[in-house]
Amino acid sequence: MHQRGSSGRFEPRWCTIGRISTYRDEAIVLRTLDYGEADRILTLLTREHGKVGAIAKGARRQPSRLGPALQLFHHLDAQLATGHNLDVVTQAVALPGPRMPADIEWTARAAVVCEFADTFSEDRHPEPDVFELTRDSLREVAEETEPRRATARFLMDALLRLGYGPRLRECAGCDSPLPERAAAFSPEAGGFLCAECARPGMPLVPVQAIKVLRVLEAGDIDLYRRLKLSDELLSSLEDVLEAQLEFHLDRQLRSLRFLRQMRRAQPAPDRT
Ligand SMILES: [Zn+2]
Repeated sequence: MHQRGSSGRFEPRWCTIGRISTYRDEAIVLRTLDYGEADRILTLLTREHGKVGAIAKGARRQPSRLGPALQLFHHLDAQLATGHNLDVVTQAVALPGPRMPADIEWTARAAVVCEFADTFSEDRHPEPDVFELTRDSLREVAEETEPRRATARFLMDALLRLGYGPRLRECAGCDSPLPERAAAFSPEAGGFLCAECARPGMPLVPVQAIKVLRVLEAGDIDLYRRLKLSDELLSSLEDVLEAQLEFHLDRQLRSLRFLRQMRRAQPAPDRT
């Protein structure tokens, strides 16, 4: 074969012993964990390499070449060296875009986007759709003056992408068209129910909320942005979308549970 010993110019193609394989990719920081004296362990969602565990050595030193870029929710241009368990971040630059406000209202919602991406991505299995949904939704949360609106849109987009969009026009029990009025929602049935199919005592979701869900389902984002949504209406949207997502996940997302605790503990001030 093409081999001339240690000083030869040719090497067999499969010979990678002693070499470090590096790659460059767009990445989103989903999770961070301080490690050792000055290192940081990261869960990155990359466009071309899927979810990747990585270590950034010395990222917590002051000053650090890598540290400023490798913050939670950041969108990066990163270079990594493939490792045994964790890849090693060798370069990272934060890409232009809105920065997440350092406020619990925003970070709690950005955490929902990241937990979803973490839950639905497999290690080293690229899913460009999930990458783009995650990147765009984090931008939207960062830019929104009312981040709850961005979360509702994200949850609907996530459900539609998974094929779990709730039924909003026909009864999920009997397929009859839903009248234009408040209706019960059943994640088990996969949507809203007519008066005959709903069980007695089921809470009713206001018709305004069902209409907003239809706008989101249609992807009419310009119209959605113009809608005036009261806190009560946003709560109705969140109840439906969170119940639908968690039913299909078959478990609660920690970040959504936290949002529910926030809603109960601190009712949002009336901004109307
Ligand atoms: Zn029905």
